Amino acid sequence: MRAPICLVVLWLPFAGGCVSTGGSHPPPLAPPGAWAIAIHGGAGTLERDAPAADLQAYRDAMERALTVGRDRLARGDAALDVCEAVVRQFEADPLFNAGKGAACNENGGHELDAAIMDGSTMACGAVAGVKTVKNPVSLARLVMQRTRHVLLMGDGAEQFATAMGVERVPNEWFTTPARRRMLDEVLQERERKVPGADSGTVGCVALDRQGRLAAATSTGGLTGKQFGRVGDSPIVGAGTYANGYAAVSGTGTGEQFLRHTVARTIAARMEFAGESLATAATAVVMHTLARDDGGVVAVDAGGNAFAVYNSDGMYRALADSRGRFEVAIFER
Ligand code: ASP
Repeated sequence: MRAPICLVVLWLPFAGGCVSTGGSHPPPLAPPGAWAIAIHGGAGTLERDAPAADLQAYRDAMERALTVGRDRLARGDAALDVCEAVVRQFEADPLFNAGKGAACNENGGHELDAAIMDGSTMACGAVAGVKTVKNPVSLARLVMQRTRHVLLMGDGAEQFATAMGVERVPNEWFTTPARRRMLDEVLQERERKVPGADSGTVGCVALDRQGRLAAATSTGGLTGKQFGRVGDSPIVGAGTYANGYAAVSGTGTGEQFLRHTVARTIAARMEFAGESLATAATAVVMHTLARDDGGVVAVDAGGNAFAVYNSDGMYRALADSRGRFEVAIFER
């Protein structure tokens, strides 16, 4: 029998050192100890002419979340822990469509989705359609760490939550007057338009000082969604993804992110086409997705944080070890 022919792929050990390797380009390299973080609070924002105090409340909440993430990364915490902690903070904040304040489905109830992924090991976990779990992102992490599966949904996820002893709340606890009003509006408009990205979904992506990338996303989904609908957020590769190249969290019309496997496509363009994070993310969000579909936040292994969206605005914030610290909604 003939011995198989071995193909040796060489990765040049410096950033941008791309040679044709028959497929994979090397990930960008960050200087030792560099870190970066990007977070979003949803692509469906208030109108530009909304009361200044309402917009400021979102800016303040984004700044608080970014501060938590920045401080923890600067002191050397793991990207995975930081992503979970930041998303938990958002889940507790009724301004956002995750945890308390989650969007209502067409029946006025809540079905929550979340995912988390460790790009350094490709370990990931997700939950879909959970109804009583106060912090879906933490249950997603338990799926990752305590089961041999990636995604648990519905009753099975609830049963797993019971087994894990995580904090539970009645389904009505997630409702806020603002979310109820949004549902009433969507139901009234249903004859005229399909439910849109109206949201406040939250996400966090991070590169830690050890060079590990992670991503997490949590959402109540789209207001007025059909009972049982699952969006992109808990689907690894669609709304949430991390590998050795990039970590990505999306927000917007989940069906579009699912169709185009948005988060994985961004990382794949970097890996297989040698594109930078900004080029890859911009191509997918501005050219593959349609106007108003939403956007992503992302960080890469080189320590670059990036946000891009094709909607009117996106609650977002970015920080890195070079001193960047930015919060924005509509500014490009
Ligand atoms: N992508 C989320 C979903 O479709 C919603 C959003 O980000 O606004 O469930």
